[in-house]
Parts: sequence; structure tokens; C-alpha cells
Amino acid sequence: MGKTIVKMKKKKRIALIAHDNRKIDLLEWAKYNRDLLAKHELFGTGTTGQLIENELNVKVQKFKSGPLGGDQQVGAKIAEGEIDFLIFFWDPLEPMPHDPDVKALLRISIVYNIPIANDRSSADFIISSPLMSTEYSRELVNYKDRIMTFEGIKLVQE
Ligand code: PGA
Repeated sequence: MGKTIVKMKKKKRIALIAHDNRKIDLLEWAKYNRDLLAKHELFGTGTTGQLIENELNVKVQKFKSGPLGGDQQVGAKIAEGEIDFLIFFWDPLEPMPHDPDVKALLRISIVYNIPIANDRSSADFIISSPLMSTEYSRELVNYKDRIMTFEGIKLVQE
């Protein structure tokens, strides 16, 4: 089984998302880490992205608001290899209308082996990692072979 390696550059492409009750926390964290974040390329769902752009005075590429498809857009970018990691402060106390999208985003992040921080201490550990300022080779698990065979029968031919 061949390995697939994705090269993460020094300048990382970071997606930032927070549910409404977690936005203040994410904003505080982002303000505290403004200078570090400003060295990278930032993405965000609509409202979170706008808030961060206003507070930090840095450019954020904004997708639609989460409940209107923004989480799915971020997931698609991860699958395309265009986002390197995810800071996603989701709300553990509130059910959301877009819970399936949230689950899908977390799932696709694992499929593509990107670092995810779902709370502030994880975000602190990630942002202070020496790997933030170096290139990094991200190895993808070979799920492809697994889904393309069933009991030894090749299902899809490329
Ligand atoms: P928002 O979306 O940044 O547009 O509020 C976040 C979310 O609910 O996933």
C-alpha cells in the first residue's frame, strides 16, 4: 500500500469556526495569538470569520455562515487539500440545526489527518508547536484500498 504525503508549508492555512456560545472564547484566543495567526492564511465561516477580521484587523477568507453551508465548504476545502488545520470551538451544550454538518466536518478532518483543536487548551498547544513555523509532511491513512474492496472483490476500477 502506497503512502500519500501532503506537504504543509511554513505558512499554514487555518480555518477558524466557533458556535455562538463559544465565539467570545475564540475571539479572546485569537486576539491573544494575533501576531502568530497573522503569519498564516486564515479562513472562517461567515460570522466567525467576520468577527476575527474586525477584531484582529487581519484578512480572513470567509465562507457562508455555518448553518447555511459554511461548515461543509470548509470540509470541502480540507478534502481538496486547501486547508491545513482546524480550530473549531463547538458548543457541547446546545444541539444545532446543522449538527450533521458539524459531524461531517469533524469526520473529514480525521480522514485527511489534519490537526484539530476543539477547545482552547488544544488550540494553545497547536499554536505554540514548533511545527507551526516549519514545513510538515502529513501522512494520509490509505482508506482508499479499504473502501474499494469488499471480501476481496474489487468494487471500483480506476
Ligand atoms: P458562523 O458559523 O461562524 O457563521 O456563526 C459557525 C457555525 O455555526 O458552524
